[in-house]
Amino acid sequence: MSPKRPARAPASNGSRPRAGAAPRRRPSVPTPPFTARGRSLSDAEFRTAVGAVDAGVDARYAWDTGIAVGGYLRGLRDGKILARECRRCRRILVPPRMFCEQCFRPTDGWTEVRDTGRVNTFSICYVRWDMERLEVPEIPAVIEIDGASAGVGIMHKLGEVRPEDVRIGMAVEAVWKPPAEREGSILDIRYFRPRDAAERAGRTAAGRAARAGARKASGARKASGAAKTRRGKAR
Ligand SMILES: [Zn+2]
Repeated sequence: MSPKRPARAPASNGSRPRAGAAPRRRPSVPTPPFTARGRSLSDAEFRTAVGAVDAGVDARYAWDTGIAVGGYLRGLRDGKILARECRRCRRILVPPRMFCEQCFRPTDGWTEVRDTGRVNTFSICYVRWDMERLEVPEIPAVIEIDGASAGVGIMHKLGEVRPEDVRIGMAVEAVWKPPAEREGSILDIRYFRPRDAAERAGRTAAGRAARAGARKASGARKASGAAKTRRGKAR
């Protein structure tokens, strides 16, 4: 007795003997599922799915930030960006660390760097973690902090700037929370914004050119859509 074949076997699984060919000893039988039909759940679906439980977990834990990051976070609460210096390779490291990974030795001391810098690299995010669309895109960026060594930077967000106006090398400055709201967190800096008022206002030549290009493309799409509609009505 051969096992019953499922209704939707793949078109060719290599197990069916060709006419005239010697039959294989043990034909393989595909088992369901034949295709992956899964998709991601949205945040709302995840929270309301059958079997979902909405409960707070009373898990208490302590996490020690360590000497370097602890000092860094206290500095942020005080409105300062602190770094560590390695006097052998003469680098200023931010975020600070107690050990120089290039010299294999402890770093030598604390120093304060400025709260300005330049965009090293950035990304424009149009979706949240659960793939829901963002009305206002977020712009995470690596900022090379002024006073720190070249290529040394921190990850943060950009604000007060249109995505099309952001460029590599753009000079930016920290926008801090008011002192009473700071709690020793990287979010004590709300975001970094362009130092140039024209870039903040979206009045740069590059931004204007990008917007003009987008308008032209949008106009071409609309014209193409209208042409299709006219053809559709003519039929
Ligand atoms: Zn070093």
